Amino acid sequence: MDHQPLRGQRALVTGASSGIGEGVARALGAAGASVVVNFASKPDIAAKIVEEIKTSGVDAMALHADVSKEAEVEAMFSAMLSAWGQIDILVNNAGLQRDAPFVELTLEQWNTVLGVNLTGMFLCARAAARSMIRRGVRPEISRAAGKIICISSVHEVIPWAGHVNYAASKGGVGMFMKSLAQELAPHRIRVNSIAPGAIMTPINRAAWETPEALRSLLRLIPYGRVGTPADIGRAVAWLASDDADYIHGQTIYVDGGMTLYPEFAKGG
Ligand code: NAP
Repeated sequence: MDHQPLRGQRALVTGASSGIGEGVARALGAAGASVVVNFASKPDIAAKIVEEIKTSGVDAMALHADVSKEAEVEAMFSAMLSAWGQIDILVNNAGLQRDAPFVELTLEQWNTVLGVNLTGMFLCARAAARSMIRRGVRPEISRAAGKIICISSVHEVIPWAGHVNYAASKGGVGMFMKSLAQELAPHRIRVNSIAPGAIMTPINRAAWETPEALRSLLRLIPYGRVGTPADIGRAVAWLASDDADYIHGQTIYVDGGMTLYPEFAKGG
């Protein structure tokens, strides 16, 4: 089995300075890809992750951009393309929550979440697709001209009271990804999503930090454990490889069974 199925490919992971994005960047590096570690506010952590990824013999660099800002996204892609010439894999991961009961939800909280979680995916996917279309398929690199992977969430399908802005953004990611997959298929650009369940990262610390919170979270996970960024990293690395070449326009749930309606396990 080829342990470096992404050898020679160049990837960009948004929001790779923490949690799932960090896990994905490390997994892509381990699979042989050169990796851009995008960050918003943590240059020191991003620089450390870059150094660690480089120890597996691939290239890596940290690039700042707020993915909700068009000029910053364009500048980030220009920097990557002038350094490495091409992008083969985009992982749209950057995301955040601004939670509030619906009647107290401010327009700023709504716009911030939609701006990063959905508009950010649009801006980065557009920049990546332009470059992938220009270059086309190079069979010596991959069977596809490029791969775009969106990090969605189980809240693409599970409604989430108190988090209406977040759930709406992830529902939007579902249709964004599928429509894009339909449009970019003739260019041989594969577009898919990975939808994580509960993964232990800073975004949801309150849900696993105390034993009581962890017990209540585990009731929602049939498989009986909280996920790790490495669980998502491995799934993304495989989905980006030619082993997954016929998978297109799909959301793959990596969630320990969270989307199985666990309340129904003991009768309805
Ligand atoms: P996290 O640990 O809080 O990391 C979020 C990352 O996004 C950080 O690297 C952060 O950069 C970056 N970011 C935030 N705003 C940004 C912006 N405007 N531009 C660029 N980057 C920005 O969260 P996580 O749990 O890893 O979440 C990553 C993705 O997975 C999100 O899309 C989230 O919705 C999704 N997800 C997570 C879970 C879970 O259980 N953890 C479940 C389902 C889906 P800085 O740190 O540099 O500011």
